Amino acid sequence: MIKKTFGELPGLLQEASLTTLAASASAFEGVSTDSRRIEAGRLFVPLIGDNFDGHHYARQARERGAAGAIWQTDRPVPPELEDWPLVLVPDTLAALQQLAAAYRRELPVKVIGITGSNGKTTTKDMAAAVLATVFRVHKTAGNLNNHIGLPLTILDMAEDTEAAVLEMGMSGYGEIELLSKIAQPDAAIITNIGDAHLLQLGSREGIAKAKLEIAAGLKSGGLLLFNGDEPLLHQGISQLQDAASMEAVSFGTDAGNEWRADDIRVTVNGSRFNLVSGDTATDEALIGLHIPVPGKHNVTNASAAIAAGVRFGVPAARVAGALSGLRITGMRIEAVRAANGAVVLNDTYNANPTAVRAAIDLVEQLTGFRTKWLVLGDMLELGPEEAELHRQIGAYIHPGNRVVALGPQSLETAKAAAEAIGTDNVKHFADKTELIAYLHGELHGNDLVLVKGSRGMKMEQIVHALEQGL
Ligand code: ATP
Ligand code: MG
Repeated sequence: MIKKTFGELPGLLQEASLTTLAASASAFEGVSTDSRRIEAGRLFVPLIGDNFDGHHYARQARERGAAGAIWQTDRPVPPELEDWPLVLVPDTLAALQQLAAAYRRELPVKVIGITGSNGKTTTKDMAAAVLATVFRVHKTAGNLNNHIGLPLTILDMAEDTEAAVLEMGMSGYGEIELLSKIAQPDAAIITNIGDAHLLQLGSREGIAKAKLEIAAGLKSGGLLLFNGDEPLLHQGISQLQDAASMEAVSFGTDAGNEWRADDIRVTVNGSRFNLVSGDTATDEALIGLHIPVPGKHNVTNASAAIAAGVRFGVPAARVAGALSGLRITGMRIEAVRAANGAVVLNDTYNANPTAVRAAIDLVEQLTGFRTKWLVLGDMLELGPEEAELHRQIGAYIHPGNRVVALGPQSLETAKAAAEAIGTDNVKHFADKTELIAYLHGELHGNDLVLVKGSRGMKMEQIVHALEQGL
């Protein structure tokens, strides 16, 4: 049996690299945790979850040609796998993370880590597009931003990758620190501070602190790009212990930001803006930029992406072309046509107070419609403050809009909205089919309809019904 035991993987981290681990186990070409899809030559990493244990699928992985496996020492090795290269470890998940950290350390790749309450995936796609004009770029696929997705993303990176753009998500303290220490970013981006995960973190200050954990793994002298429109980030950065060993640079729309978006014009098809950095040559090249996604918040996301790209050597003159052809990972705000001609903004991927306010602001920025409708479903997982947070959304709505709310929590949205814009302009529904029927009756061909709600509300069903006229 070819078997190596690494009792202390943290020791391995310091002493060995992925290559030496590979050499000591056997050669392998990449890593996979999924026995059903593993390719020949890869190392199988069996993870253990609440309802499954990957070790049970090792035989399947071997049959598909896996070169060997990581193996948790407290799991018995079945006799038929005894002649297979196994690397024994105390914890397979920790081993996966440490392998990723070791592999990343081996490669000369520039890493950009992205966190924030909202806009991570969007900013990731934008930064990757800008960097790809010059570099061979690897980026997080879809939304694989957690303690498993991030290491797998790193281990999937080709050795000749020049820049990696990695999304880092979290739901509590300590998670971003772990991800940042694995990824060891040369630059980190904090897109914004919202209210997502308020339940776990207690306050917006807590959320800011959790996002700032991204500084923990930042390379010495690295760049921390942060949303300078958010006072909590200025405050948090000034309190960071290792602030001296990094360069903090702000982006946003407020005066005083080092990268400042200016002259923003928003249509349903996209946003136009200038980006000002104070460097004359750069600024000239960054006039009249267009991104095919609407909204001031997306301009902010693009500002971060451009700042990172230019900083890593992308000529400013290439930015405009990179952004105009941008494709953003699916189901983010997208303009589609209702059967009767109305423009429907499909923003049904998810919702939390910050993102809903951003969407309401976007609708406010759009002009030329007869009536603007806000179809808002419940925002889920907000904790004890949920009723108040829904009321705040209702109160935030500007006169001139009409509100159609769906779900038990949205009753609060509807009540507060009725006070803000008048009872005649607000409707609440408990039932989606009734809501759709109401909209069909009321919607005019020159109207604009924003549809947004938490994932669990499946608000896309409303969009599809409007598109099909059903
Ligand atoms: P997740 O936590 O689900 O991975 P994410 O941070 O990757 O989310 P995106 O998928 O890029 O975020 O965007 C999700 C939604 O967040 C968008 O549809 C939009 O409503 C909102 N959003 C995006 N960027 C911002 C921003 N900078 N500020 C506020 N809201 C934003
Ligand atoms: Mg995401």
